[in-house]
Amino acid sequence: MPPRYRPADSLASPRFTGIRTFARLPHVQATADVDVAVVGLPFDTGATYRVGARFGPEAIRSASALLRPFNHELGVAVFDVLSVIDYGDAAVVPGFIEPSYAAITALLQPLAAAGVITLGLGGDHSIALAELRALAAVHGPLALVQFDSHGDVWDCYYGTQRYTHGTPFRRAVEEGLLRPERSIQLGMRGPLFAASDLQDARDLGFTVMTTTEVLRHTPEAIGALVRATVGDAQAFLSFDVDFIDPAFAPGTGTPEIGGPTSHQGLQLLRACTGIDWVGADVVEVLPALDHAQLTAQLAAQVAYEFLSLVAHRRSAGDART
Ligand code: MN
Ligand code: MN
Repeated sequence: MPPRYRPADSLASPRFTGIRTFARLPHVQATADVDVAVVGLPFDTGATYRVGARFGPEAIRSASALLRPFNHELGVAVFDVLSVIDYGDAAVVPGFIEPSYAAITALLQPLAAAGVITLGLGGDHSIALAELRALAAVHGPLALVQFDSHGDVWDCYYGTQRYTHGTPFRRAVEEGLLRPERSIQLGMRGPLFAASDLQDARDLGFTVMTTTEVLRHTPEAIGALVRATVGDAQAFLSFDVDFIDPAFAPGTGTPEIGGPTSHQGLQLLRACTGIDWVGADVVEVLPALDHAQLTAQLAAQVAYEFLSLVAHRRSAGDART
C-alpha cells in the first residue's frame, strides 16, 4: 500500500499554487494511516531577546514549497515510505506560557498515543517542554538530540521565571521527561553567564559538544557519537536554527556568530541515521529578521531531513547504518 497522504505533485501543479502547507502536504487532522504530523507551534513570548518567531511556522511552510520528494544524500524517496500530513497549528496564547504549554501538549499527546511522530515548527525554544510533556506521557522518558548554540538548561530568568526559551531542557530533566544519559547537546558557543554553564548541562547528565569540538570531527564521527549516546532509546530531535552561523541563518532571536555553515549543519544532521525518532522540532525562526528566506529555507530543509531520517530507518536503506 502506498502512503495515504503525500505532497501535491509539483510536476502536475506549480508549486506556488494552492494553500500553503508544509511541503505541499494535505492539511488533515487525522491519525489513521499517518506516520508523521507536521504541527505549527507559533509561540514566541518565551523568548528573552528578539521576539517574532510566532511567524516561524508560516515562513517555514512558505519556504518548504520548493522541497522535492527524493533525498539523494540519504538515498530515500521520503513520501514513498511515509504518510505525512500538515496538522495545522496549536492554539497558543501569546504572552501566556502555561496555557500555551497546555494547548501544545493537548494537541500533541493524542497524536503520539496514536503512534504518529510529531514534527513541530516553532516558535521559540520554550515550546520543546510542552512537546516533551506530550511525548513522554505516551512513550516514557526520551533521549534528546539537540542542535543549538545554547544549552537551554539555565534555571531561572529575571529572578524566579522558570519557563523561558533558555530553560526547557532543565525543566524537562526535572520533570522526568528525558533520559539525560542518553541525550546529547551539539553546538554550544558564544559567551556564557558563567564558567560553570556547560558543566551544569553535564551535571544534569547530558553529553555536551561545543561548536568547536563538533567541527573538529567529521559528520560521520559525530553521527556515530550520537548513535552511541542514544543507543536504542526512543529519541526527540530538537533543532534550534541558531546552531547554524547567522551568516546563513540570520532570522533568529538569539544569534551567535562563528557557527557551522548550513551545509555543515545538514551533513551533521544526515549523519544521525539509525535512531528511533518519536518526535522533532525546528525552532527559533524569526522571519522579520530573515533575508531572502535564508533561515526559513534552512528550517524547511532541516524538517525535511528529519522526515528523511525517519524514512531511511523504515526503508531497506537502513541496513547501511
Ligand atoms: Mn535553543
Ligand atoms: Mn539557541
